[in-house]
Amino acid sequence: MSKESKDIQIMADMLRQGATLTELPCPACSSPLFKLRSGDLWCAKCQKRVVVVKEGESPKGTTSPVLLTSLESTILTKIEEIEGKLREEKDPEKLQRLGALLSTLLENLEKIRRVERA
Ligand SMILES: [Zn+2]
Repeated sequence: MSKESKDIQIMADMLRQGATLTELPCPACSSPLFKLRSGDLWCAKCQKRVVVVKEGESPKGTTSPVLLTSLESTILTKIEEIEGKLREEKDPEKLQRLGALLSTLLENLEKIRRVERA
């Protein structure tokens, strides 16, 4: 199994176990963090628990172009939709497809955030 499809598998498993995707980026790799049922934040990519010292303290300036922000929120909406589907879906093939889609969206989100911060 490739590293990437393993990541997808882990993410899909986490969603099935009731974890939710948050808008908080991982401080190490900037991929969106998962919130576990325990309330802990977890990065599926780094396989690490992430501790947020204070929410909303990231240096997200007001200089970000509006287009990027709306693009980001569009992608987040799609991710939420897929998250819901992933949770319901039992068919492994469909799960794989949804997982791949999720992975693409997460990558896009990362890219957007990278541009936003540059
Ligand atoms: Zn990470």
